[in-house]
Amino acid sequence: MRAHYLLAGAALALASSLTAQTVTTVLSNGTTDTRYDMVILGDGYVASEQATFNADVNTFLTALFQKSPYNIFASYYNVHTVFRASAQSGADRPDETPPVFVNTAYEATYNYGGVDRCLYIQNTSIALADAALAPATEGRVIVMVNDTRYGGCAATFAVSYNGSQMTEVQAHELGHSLGQLADEYDYAGQTYTGPEPSQPNITTSPTGQKWNLWHGTQGISAFQGAGYNQFGLWRPRSNCLMRSLGQALCRVCQENIVKITNSVANVITWTTPATASVAVQRPNVQQFSFAHFVPAGNNPIIEWEVDGNVQLGQTATTFFLNSTQVTLGNHTVKVTIKDQSDRVRLDPQLVMHESHSWVVSVSDPSLAQLRIPSMTNNLVLVNPGTTVTLSPTVVNDGPAVAGAFAVEFFLSNSPSAWTTQDTYLGKIDVAGLNNGQQVLLQHTTQLPWSLPLQIMYIHAVVDRINVVAESNETDNEIARVILGQAGPCNTGLEFQDPLTEPFAGSISLAAGGTLHPTVIAPCANPTSALYLIAWTGSGTAPGTTLGPGLLLPLNVDALTQIGLGNLNGPIFGSFLGVLNAQGVGQAQFTLPPSLAIPTGPTHFATVLLGSTTLFTAVSNPIQLTLLP
Ligand SMILES: [Zn+2]
Repeated sequence: MRAHYLLAGAALALASSLTAQTVTTVLSNGTTDTRYDMVILGDGYVASEQATFNADVNTFLTALFQKSPYNIFASYYNVHTVFRASAQSGADRPDETPPVFVNTAYEATYNYGGVDRCLYIQNTSIALADAALAPATEGRVIVMVNDTRYGGCAATFAVSYNGSQMTEVQAHELGHSLGQLADEYDYAGQTYTGPEPSQPNITTSPTGQKWNLWHGTQGISAFQGAGYNQFGLWRPRSNCLMRSLGQALCRVCQENIVKITNSVANVITWTTPATASVAVQRPNVQQFSFAHFVPAGNNPIIEWEVDGNVQLGQTATTFFLNSTQVTLGNHTVKVTIKDQSDRVRLDPQLVMHESHSWVVSVSDPSLAQLRIPSMTNNLVLVNPGTTVTLSPTVVNDGPAVAGAFAVEFFLSNSPSAWTTQDTYLGKIDVAGLNNGQQVLLQHTTQLPWSLPLQIMYIHAVVDRINVVAESNETDNEIARVILGQAGPCNTGLEFQDPLTEPFAGSISLAAGGTLHPTVIAPCANPTSALYLIAWTGSGTAPGTTLGPGLLLPLNVDALTQIGLGNLNGPIFGSFLGVLNAQGVGQAQFTLPPSLAIPTGPTHFATVLLGSTTLFTAVSNPIQLTLLP
């Protein structure tokens, strides 16, 4: 018979452990992605005590949401319970005589870590797995233990007994787990000597500098005795729930609970439009709205911005964007709600603010609409200095005629982006394009000597400076890939300036302007390679012979003499220099305000100077027209 009873007992325990866990949402304020989701487990409750567990949860929550700051932010929380019946009631009491051991779901025990009233669970992996059955969890889990002996402890789990002081103990433990707060009580005679604690509510500073924004509020100052030490640690207030049960949480402790709660909660619950991108056609007015759950008592401030500019007077949950009052193209509409809760004074992370943004594309269907549906290039594998032919097709899809515009070309290392700092490959001027018309253009350009040996992208951009009003200003670009190959061992000279073609035939410079003639000599020995850039106003032919097979493509004249006489001065910066390790030398030509100058084109060319032979190489010429 005895064996029979044992078998029956084992079968009962097995059945109990196989009992499906019961998941219940006991407090639902909104979707789990917008709220802080608390999860409560029970340990030491047998199946027939599930009602006791439910009652304990109810008692705890009722008390918790009467405490500040939980009362103010009650709508920020969802609470879920996961009940797993234990085989036996209570918790282990290994420090009693005789010791008590019971079989429970998470193996809760007193005297955890040798502290008699520290009640904690030993089977945390099952507890975590059970907590994960809840609709959501923030990683901190509350455990109610069905035992009358006073106790509680907190780490990942906030654990409390369910006796008469259950609500106070559990609220204190939640201060640790949710609020990441330290104990403010101390043990007589102990002195702290460690580093500054990470928790916000204890400090090694006798003046309590850590919470200086709270000094003078509700008795907050600095009181010695905290974090288990009578000396060497200070707490914010003479008393607090983190020091003694039955006390309110001090404002310093409340602040951290509020900030952690807000860093998890998303107070903006819905927006309209629901999509992040919004297309608006002139002359329509677009409405933007949102809903939030910041308590009215926290006096939230609503701020609307368009392209970063705060819209004065717009403080409602709805905002109207008049498409005729913004430029065509993309804009950003952003709303920010700022919780002004008096529970938070230091918020460098702005967890009390929440924003939502929309990208708004404003178009005008009555305008011209230029785009480049395709482009071909005659070469894909290219050497530095190669001449390529680019053939873009430009279309005007809009109902209106497009006036004169330009198609410009940039060399970029990005397939999707170009800037005016990228190498400029020139432009084609187009007189205009009728509605519905398309045109195939052709542009021949020389790639720079400095072309890198990698994948590069030639971008064609139509109407970069927006002289044609278009219904859509965000589709004016196309890119083609090229692959840079090793180039010839020649000595090249090119301009390296924004919006300037490296070998421009028509570049001009106004008084005070600067340009950067740049020498590219990849095969020159950089340790001894000097370069000299010469200038002429009388053309490139017949040129000047410097030695056998070395024809400098410039005619020596008065400008050449001015250049040589003022090398490396304010006008001819670094016109004489040493190539760097990559064989590059960059000069700077600055046109002074009052130089007597020729009206026709001028030219630069460079010559390399050697140690045994004076002139070792010459470059191509590059042209510049000076403007008075
Ligand atoms: Zn406190």
